[in-house]
Amino acid sequence: MTLAHELGHGVHQYLARDKGVLQQNTPLTTAETASLFGETLVFHSLISREKDPKVVLSMLVREIESSFAAVFRQVAMKRFEEAAHTARRTTGELTTGALSEMWLETQRAMFGTSVTLTPDCGIWWSYITHFIHVPGYVYAYAFGDLLVRALYKRSLSGGKDSPRATWQCSRPADRTGRRRSSGPLAWTLPIPTSGRRDLPSSRGWSRRRRT
Ligand SMILES: [Zn+2]
Repeated sequence: MTLAHELGHGVHQYLARDKGVLQQNTPLTTAETASLFGETLVFHSLISREKDPKVVLSMLVREIESSFAAVFRQVAMKRFEEAAHTARRTTGELTTGALSEMWLETQRAMFGTSVTLTPDCGIWWSYITHFIHVPGYVYAYAFGDLLVRALYKRSLSGGKDSPRATWQCSRPADRTGRRRSSGPLAWTLPIPTSGRRDLPSSRGWSRRRRT
């Protein structure tokens, strides 16, 4: 699934390559949409071919846990981040203990009474590299997860305004000026067999690995 996720970023960068370096990156709101759409395609393909009911059940449980991590957990982290930045602006430099208290408060709001968080859990904010390298980013996972579930459902309808059709319209033109052939985006993407200059750069999307 991690490979499907990162390949989704790769497909996005590949299809956007004719936009030029200044415009090919997505805004933050939709940064994780293509990657989570890739995960969703792979998940539904795998589970549709699985015959063992126990394996199907485990896959569904994993999918639910994944959605929990993408929505509730990332929203909790967003609220921690917002609290930390607000406190820094209003009260000045923050101690590690103050940040840990904010972390525990926002994590408890998420878990409610289902999990007992000890004070040792307070320092866990420090392993989220997004807070340092891409501040304000984590909500994109929650937005992307929810948007993709709606887009995937619409894509199953196969209508002309479905995400699949929309994405086909965004395909770059080939050398003759024609749009590339239709078909499911992820499975018909033409990857050059010779020369690597058209392949997407890993820069820009490698930093978006889910926390
Ligand atoms: Zn991502």
